Amino acid sequence: EVKESETYNVKEYVKHLSKIIEKRNPNEKEFHQAVKEVLDSLVPVLVKKPTYIQHAVLERMIEPERLITFRVPWVNDQGKVKVNRGFRVQYNSALGPYKGGLRFHPSVNASIIKFLGFEQILKNSFTGQPIGGGKGGSDFDPKGKSDLEIMRFCQSFMTELSKHVGPDIDVPAGDIGVGAREIGYMFGQYKKLKGAYEAGVLTGKGIGYGGSLGRKEATGYGTVYFVEEMLNNQGLSFNQSTVVVSGSGNVSIYAMEKAMDLGAKVVACSDSNGYIYDPNGINLDTVKQLKDVENKRIREYVKDHPDASFKKGSTGIWSIPCDIVLPCATQNELDEESANLLIANGIKAVGEGANMPSTLEAIDAFLDKGVLFAPAKAANAGGVAVSALEMAQNSSRLTWTQEEVDAKLKEIMTSIYRESMQASEEYGISGNLVAGANIAGFIKVADAMIDQGVI
Ligand code: GLU
Repeated sequence: EVKESETYNVKEYVKHLSKIIEKRNPNEKEFHQAVKEVLDSLVPVLVKKPTYIQHAVLERMIEPERLITFRVPWVNDQGKVKVNRGFRVQYNSALGPYKGGLRFHPSVNASIIKFLGFEQILKNSFTGQPIGGGKGGSDFDPKGKSDLEIMRFCQSFMTELSKHVGPDIDVPAGDIGVGAREIGYMFGQYKKLKGAYEAGVLTGKGIGYGGSLGRKEATGYGTVYFVEEMLNNQGLSFNQSTVVVSGSGNVSIYAMEKAMDLGAKVVACSDSNGYIYDPNGINLDTVKQLKDVENKRIREYVKDHPDASFKKGSTGIWSIPCDIVLPCATQNELDEESANLLIANGIKAVGEGANMPSTLEAIDAFLDKGVLFAPAKAANAGGVAVSALEMAQNSSRLTWTQEEVDAKLKEIMTSIYRESMQASEEYGISGNLVAGANIAGFIKVADAMIDQGVI
């Protein structure tokens, strides 16, 4: 039985931790937001298991083991020298080598990398795979760059990063702005510098040289598998539902594909300029051709589809009435106002494919109104889960079929759902998957940290 006074003390302790975070990391609002969400949801765990407080697990967990920043000089096609900043946060290695993507986007800074790295610890934990948490990237903007510029940038980035990564040390992958092409260039440079073929140093590689079948689709498919599980639990499903998916990158495309496979009608998707609405249902082949092959903007879609319309802006997409939304673009793309609009239009479920796409206020609004909510850390863990399967294939020098990988992915997503649900029930917040996921992920990491001593 938990006493009110004990809860009060733990809440004070959590406030104290928030203050440490703010003092040590001034003005890093995304990072504060990510940590706050986790700290708040861990209160019931800390009340029940004070051993985590005695071992200062959270004080240790919120401070990265290492944050590396470095200069990335490169030469553009005009022969001009350019300089960007590179990052790698090696956040927590309690469960395995640091693991997490690299993001190339002008918005990248220490706050973004730390928020992503912190979330990665818990996300990686409940994949059940032996991987710690890390993240990296650069403020480099790949938009409008030539293929050779991308190659030179990736080579320079890896020249520095190679000092810090390795198959048993830290294994980066892609994220926004980093796909198979960039991974290929970085892998080539790493191999050249090391003079050794260490396939497991990066994941998301091309299929021909150590990549895993099913990795490309994994984040999007995994999100839909997770949401389907959540819907089924309430007697609902994707079948015959109307779905809005933001973004049109790798996560979004494969979330749309799997939702359609399950019988949903996807009516909208977007990019950073605006969104398209197609009342007949989005034609995915057109989107793939535009975004994957031709590198064009989503507004071009309306040329071939006269019933469809394009609108500028990043939040308008949330005004479309639908049953399910899958925010698959970027952090804080869905705020309280958009959440309230979706609620007023009768939304039933939200599945986060991107990292931290909903603001804290938006999450509260959804939970408050009983909207089914699949939080990013759980719902988008499929990508990194299959990255871990890629590592396993690399170190065993075996390759698995698409079907084998997909079956494993489905199994992992189902078990993440069950574990999050179970944790929410065990800690008296039944059905709150935000807290459930944070708790389930945290406990595994915390126990491993205690077992390994104060290091
Ligand atoms: N960037 C992805 C994520 O946010 C995947 C990371 C990985 O595969 O290591 O989880």
